[in-house]
Amino acid sequence: MAKIECIRCGNEREQASDVLYGGKLGDTIRSSVCYVCWAEWQDTEVKIINEYRLDLSDPNHRSFMTQKMKEFLGLLKAG
Ligand SMILES: [Zn+2]
Repeated sequence: MAKIECIRCGNEREQASDVLYGGKLGDTIRSSVCYVCWAEWQDTEVKIINEYRLDLSDPNHRSFMTQKMKEFLGLLKAG
């Protein structure tokens, strides 16, 4: 597993695996986010789904979730 400098915590750690996002976003996550922060996001994701009662088969809910993920991981700064 490659080491990366994490955009969120600033530590040099192994990159996130088990990233289910594809395309450019998936590539960005894998190359910018460490496995620790990714695990934290996965915990947070579950809480957000429960809090907002999201249905991830709904595209609007999925894009809401993607936005939350970018905020959480600090990917908005990266553009
Ligand atoms: Zn990190």
